[in-house]
Amino acid sequence: MKLPNYVSGEWKEGTGAGEPLVDPVTGEELARISSQGIDVGGALEYARSNGGPTLQKLTYRERADLLGKIADVLTANRDEYFRICLLNQGANQADASFDVDGAIYTIKYYAKIGRALAEQKILKEGAEIPLSKTNVFSGQHFLMPAKGAAVFINAFNFPAWGFCEKAAPALLSGVPVVVKPASPTAWLTQRMVEDIVKSGTVPAGSLSILCGSARDLLDHVREGDSISFTGSADTATRIRSHANVLRRSVRVNIEADSINSAILGSDAAPGSDVFDLLVKEVVREMTLKAGQKCTAIRRVLVPRQFMQAAGEAIAARLASLKVGNPRNPEVKVGPVVNKAQQAACVEGLKLLKQECTVLFGGDEGFQPLDADAQKSAFVQPTLLASKNGLDAKFVHDVEVFGPAATLVPYDNTAELIAIARRGMGSLVASIFSNDANFVREVILGIGDLHGRLLVVDSSVGSQHTGHGNVVPNCLHGGPGRAGGGEELAALRAVLLYHRRFVVQGPPSRIGDLAAMSADASILYS
Ligand code: NAP
Repeated sequence: MKLPNYVSGEWKEGTGAGEPLVDPVTGEELARISSQGIDVGGALEYARSNGGPTLQKLTYRERADLLGKIADVLTANRDEYFRICLLNQGANQADASFDVDGAIYTIKYYAKIGRALAEQKILKEGAEIPLSKTNVFSGQHFLMPAKGAAVFINAFNFPAWGFCEKAAPALLSGVPVVVKPASPTAWLTQRMVEDIVKSGTVPAGSLSILCGSARDLLDHVREGDSISFTGSADTATRIRSHANVLRRSVRVNIEADSINSAILGSDAAPGSDVFDLLVKEVVREMTLKAGQKCTAIRRVLVPRQFMQAAGEAIAARLASLKVGNPRNPEVKVGPVVNKAQQAACVEGLKLLKQECTVLFGGDEGFQPLDADAQKSAFVQPTLLASKNGLDAKFVHDVEVFGPAATLVPYDNTAELIAIARRGMGSLVASIFSNDANFVREVILGIGDLHGRLLVVDSSVGSQHTGHGNVVPNCLHGGPGRAGGGEELAALRAVLLYHRRFVVQGPPSRIGDLAAMSADASILYS
C-alpha cells in the first residue's frame, strides 16, 4: 500500500518504490510513502490561490467554527488513530493518547477561544497615533492574515499533535496549510488529513499533505508563506539558511531539540514529598513515548549530597516498569520509532557513558518482553550519573532521543544556574523546591534561556500539568538551541500567520479599517 499525497485538490501517489513505514515492534512493513513526481511548487500555488482566498472570505468566528467541525471529525476517528499509533510507533494507550488526544484538545481549544475574535477580518493594534498638529493625519497599526501558505515540516514523534497545534492557529488566521510530516510516522497525519478532507469540512486548497522527502519544497516558498519547522537542530539550520528562504525573507518558526532539566532544591531531602514528586516526574518523562519528547527531562540536577538517594529512587521505579511489546497489557514502555532512531540512541549513550557512570539500564543486548530484539527497535531505559556537572561535555550537548536521563550534581545555586545554562537554550526546566528564595534565584538565573519554567512545591503536589506536557494556553518554544521559536500561548499563536503594517493617513480612512477590525489586545488577554 502506498499512501497518496493530497495536493492541488487531488489524491496523488508518488512515483518510484517509495520509503517503507514499519512496525517498530515486529519490523514488518506497513505501508509506503513517496513524494517523487509530485509538483510541489504547484501544490503551494494551489493552496495560496484557492485555499487562502476562500478561507479569508470567512470571519475569524466562522473559521473557529470550522475548527470545531475538524475536531468532531478527528474525535469520530480516534480509535483508528490509536490503531495506527500502535502499528507504526509501538505506542500504548498512554503514548497514543498523549499525541492524539492532545491534538484533538488543541483544535477544540482554538475553536473555542478563536470565537472571541468575532465577525472581523483583520486586527487593530494599539491606539491611533496623531501625526499632525491639526489631527488631519494619523497612524494606526494593523495585523492582517498573510496571503500565503502555512508550510509545516514536522518531527516524527508527534504526527497528530504536531500537525494540529500548528494547523489550528493557521486555519483560524485564514491561512491554508501544507503539511509535510516526518517520513517514519507520516501515516497518522496522512490519515487525519484524509478524514478531514473527505468529510468536506474544509474549503478546497486549505489543507494539503506531502508524504516522503521534502524534495524541492523550500525552493518554492515565497514572501507571504510561513514555515513552521519542528525537528532536530541540524535540519533547522539547513532550513533557516536555505537560499530561497533567505532571499525571500520567508518567516520561519523553529522548534528544535533541547536538553531540558529537572532541578531539585537542597531543601527537598530524600523522603520528602517534593523529592518524591521529582522522582516520579523524571521516570514519567523517561518512559512516556519511550522518552521521545522534545520536552523530556534529559538532565536531573540534584544537590551533590542527594545524588545517591535520587539515583536509587529513580532506578527502583524504572526497574518496576516492563519494557516491550505494547500489545502485552503488562508493558509500560514501548520501542523507539525505528532501527535508525535506536542506533542514534545507542550512539548517544556511548558518548554519555564516556563521562558518566550507568546507574540503571544501558544494556545494548537487552531483551524486550514479547518482541524479537533483532527485529524490534527497543532501547532499555537508562539512567546515568555525571561525575562533575560543569566539566561534562556530552551531558549538556547530546540529546539521546529516547528513554534516557543523566543525574548531574551541583554544590551551590550559582553552579546549578551555570549547569542549567549549559543547555544553551531549552524548551523547559522544572524546579522542585519549597524554598521561595531558591526558586526565585533559579528563575532569575535561567529564565532568559528557557521557554517554560515549571515550579512544583508541596502546595502543588501532583496537580501540575507535567514537565513535558505542552498546554495550548501557555507558550511552547525556547531560545538558542531550542530553535528560538514561539508556538501556542493561546491567541498569540496567530501572530506567525499575520503580518503587521501601519496605515498613515486621514483619520476617516483609518476609521474605515478600524471598524472592520478586532482589537489585537485580545491576543494577549
Ligand atoms: P529531523 O530529522 O530534523 O526531521 C524533521 C523534519 O524535517 C522531517 O519532516 C524531515 O523529513 C524534514 N527534513 C529533513 N531534512 C530536510 C531538509 N533538508 N529540508 C526540508 N525538510 C527536511 O527530526 P526528527 O528526527 O523527525 O525529530 C526528532 C527531533 O525533533 C528531536 O531532536 C526532537 O528534540 C525534535 N523535536 C522538537 C520539538 C519542539 O517542539 N521543539 C518537538 C518534537 C521534536 P523526513 O522525515 O522525510 O526526513
